[in-house]
Amino acid sequence: MAKTTTDDSRICRCPNCGMTVLVPSDLIEENRIECLNCNREFRNPFKPKTSINPGCISKQNAGCIVIGLAILAILGFIIIPWLWDIGSSSSADSASVSSSYITKDTYAGISKSAMEDVDNFAIANDKAARNEYLDRGLVIILDAGTEVVVHKVGFSYSEVSVKGSTQKLWVPTEYVRY
Ligand SMILES: [Zn+2]
Repeated sequence: MAKTTTDDSRICRCPNCGMTVLVPSDLIEENRIECLNCNREFRNPFKPKTSINPGCISKQNAGCIVIGLAILAILGFIIIPWLWDIGSSSSADSASVSSSYITKDTYAGISKSAMEDVDNFAIANDKAARNEYLDRGLVIILDAGTEVVVHKVGFSYSEVSVKGSTQKLWVPTEYVRY
């Protein structure tokens, strides 16, 4: 549709009226050309492409966006499970660290029956029997605030061990905060 003439002018066809239009070389740089026949403007098909081509840039931007999204997706796959890990491990930590503890000074039996006995001594106000159990080490006294690991929670008594100890102890469930 366009061809170069000898004097470096170019001709094209007006898209509006179809008239052949001569584009003089001094108008080659113009963005738009006015048709002398119909007096309407149309885009100059001869305007040299500049180095900054908007179409190219938007394509590059689109490429950047695609790459950015891909990176975000990859990071998401890496980071989200990692965050989950942190969340689960910290909640696991808090489960073991959210330490159970004794809420009130209490007797703790080395067996459930020893604990039951001591409670019965208290009901019977039999301090001598209770002291004997203490002397024999069948029961000990746990101070309020003692950190314990809870092994079993029973209706009346719970099996715990003092943190850092493997000795199993039975304490009144009502005095264990777990
Ligand atoms: Zn025209």
